Amino acid sequence: MSRWHDEQGCQASYNALLGQVLGGVASRLPTKCGNCQISAVHIYFHAHSRGRGGVWIWCSSCGCYLHGTTVVPPWWRNMEGVDEDRLTASPEHLEGLAQAVDTHWNALQPG
Ligand SMILES: [Zn+2]
Repeated sequence: MSRWHDEQGCQASYNALLGQVLGGVASRLPTKCGNCQISAVHIYFHAHSRGRGGVWIWCSSCGCYLHGTTVVPPWWRNMEGVDEDRLTASPEHLEGLAQAVDTHWNALQPG
């Protein structure tokens, strides 16, 4: 059984967080999970062409995640070390890189 789950109830705060990020509000990672209240939420975009790509928002603590396609912020750069072939809907591959993802994200934040 996978530790990852993506039911709507646990995702509500992640949708709000994504809206803030896309609206230009900077967030440092890891950030607080609206589901379990632990600061263990990570965000990763994987940009393809024309400013679009995939997004993953997941919590290392409770295992809730959100995945979809989205507009990618102009400041975003894909991270070296992410194996595109291993990206699936669930954040299994990204969880192994969570600390690096946070560092990468925080270094890219505008301002
Ligand atoms: Zn959580």
